[in-house]
Amino acid sequence: MAHTCVHWFRKGLRLHDNPALMAALRDCKELYPVFILDPHLHNNTCVGINRWRFLVGALKDLDCSLRGLNSRLFVVRGKPEEVFPELFDRWKVTKLTYEYDTEPYSLSRDKTVATLAKEHGVEVIYKISHTLYDTERIIEENSGKAPLTYNRMQVIVKTLGPPKRPVPAPTIEDMQGAMTPCSENHEKKYGIPTLEELGQDAAALGEEQFPGGEQEALRRLDKHMKRTGWVCSFEKPQTSPNSLSPSTTVLSPYVTFGCLSARTFWWRLAEVYQGKKHSSPPVSLHGQLLWREFFYTASVGISNFNKMEGNPVCTQVDWDTNPEYLAAWREARTGFPFIDAIMTQLRQEGWIHHLARHAVACFLTRGDLWISWEEGQKVFEELLLDGDWALNAGNWQWLSASAFFHQYFRVYSPVAFGKKTDKNGDYIKKYLPLLKKFPAEYIYEPWKAPRSVQQAAGCIVGKDYPQPIAKHEVISKKNIQRMKLAYAKRSGDSAESANKSPVKRQGTKRKAPSVVDMLKKKDRRNCLLRP
Ligand code: FAD
Repeated sequence: MAHTCVHWFRKGLRLHDNPALMAALRDCKELYPVFILDPHLHNNTCVGINRWRFLVGALKDLDCSLRGLNSRLFVVRGKPEEVFPELFDRWKVTKLTYEYDTEPYSLSRDKTVATLAKEHGVEVIYKISHTLYDTERIIEENSGKAPLTYNRMQVIVKTLGPPKRPVPAPTIEDMQGAMTPCSENHEKKYGIPTLEELGQDAAALGEEQFPGGEQEALRRLDKHMKRTGWVCSFEKPQTSPNSLSPSTTVLSPYVTFGCLSARTFWWRLAEVYQGKKHSSPPVSLHGQLLWREFFYTASVGISNFNKMEGNPVCTQVDWDTNPEYLAAWREARTGFPFIDAIMTQLRQEGWIHHLARHAVACFLTRGDLWISWEEGQKVFEELLLDGDWALNAGNWQWLSASAFFHQYFRVYSPVAFGKKTDKNGDYIKKYLPLLKKFPAEYIYEPWKAPRSVQQAAGCIVGKDYPQPIAKHEVISKKNIQRMKLAYAKRSGDSAESANKSPVKRQGTKRKAPSVVDMLKKKDRRNCLLRP
């Protein structure tokens, strides 16, 4: 039977390596490529203007590629559970395809839509292509638990073999027999939203550094893969958090939105490595994709992954509630130029280097301000182009030494860390031009400059630029002690709960690992790794 098929784009905003789209094209007489503008995106998650712009760009690019296949993108406004029954009836749909998504909201949304599809006699096909592997398979292979160390993850993926090869993008031949019925008022009814429609003020936007879309993603991938020497010698810790142009690939927004398939990225790297000496995980580019897989798997296997409470691997810490400190951090007003420059870059451009994320995340949490990582997670979710539910939560837990990483006594200095790779403070001068006339000697600590130097620089600390929000040397030591207490309490709680008979968690198939188990199993080498 020839089908009338809806392919539902959510993430996975691409044609290459899209096995669900290929499944849609099998025995297809009518194809409706659909993106749903879900009010959940507006209401429940905080999405900043840069990310909206990226999404709009990615949708335009997708529509353009679909036109090349004599098809179009249909952007439908509304809640998926309300939209689909109507579309099923209107278009007489017989098949629905989509890429599998492991986020809790997506899982419950997809479950509802699959039930509705069944009620309408619509066959549902989904495929795994957002991650390198099926994360459930990794968990299964690890006796039903998410691996909690990178080394363990490497052992498991080794047993699974390399990731599947990507599927080529559909060609016009693959479209033979499948047509997309479009009405004359397509733009009006199903057009791509403008930023204004999304409630955003386009005038507030800065220059677009990273335009959204599959074509741009593939162009950037090609560009990097041509730098074979750079790719083969890539070691993440050797890259710089404060270079004036990015020292890593900045492919993350493209991978997050699925404009670039992680498997395509993986296999292109494998081609470059072929026959050459190259770096290895965890520091290589393959290693970076495995970090992604590691946190994705953890997010699937660990309940309440984006929260402290109810999250079985997360140390329970008595974080302070301090709206003023949080606002100062978010708005780049901490008085530490390195931290404020990073937060300015984040707000303006939507991307910051991984080690810059380390610096500001440590500063907000266990380093200086003692504010919960969940607050930092929210700010990153809003401002990062690559904001990703699993990766954001996992990395915030790591940096706050709440889970995965336990060396809480290693604290980043908001002064010394940046100096290692940028003595002159050129990065600070770029993002905080107010400080650009400070001599290198004081650029990381302008409050130490004599009044005459501040006057000559045209910036008086305490008037034109804030005094430092905290005395780092003092507060960081205090915080280490608070962290020590939280860890001691955790061991105590674990010892206490170890004496109780195990209670089966309701509604979950897997038994969560106890903290005691995890600490025992913790591979010491893992402490030395960082994502
Ligand atoms: P590259 O070094 O070029 O790496 C290639 C790819 O590997 C990236 O595009 C990304 O897909 C993946 N990757 C690299 N590092 C990591 C990592 N540590 N964890 C998971 N995947 C990784 N990354 C996100 O994509 N979304 C987030 O919301 C996010 N939140 C973070 C929050 C904190 C507090 C920290 C410390 C890190 C966070 N990261 C997040 C991870 C990492 O910083 C970014 O993936 C990376 O900086 C992206 O830049 P790139 O593409 O140039 O990376």
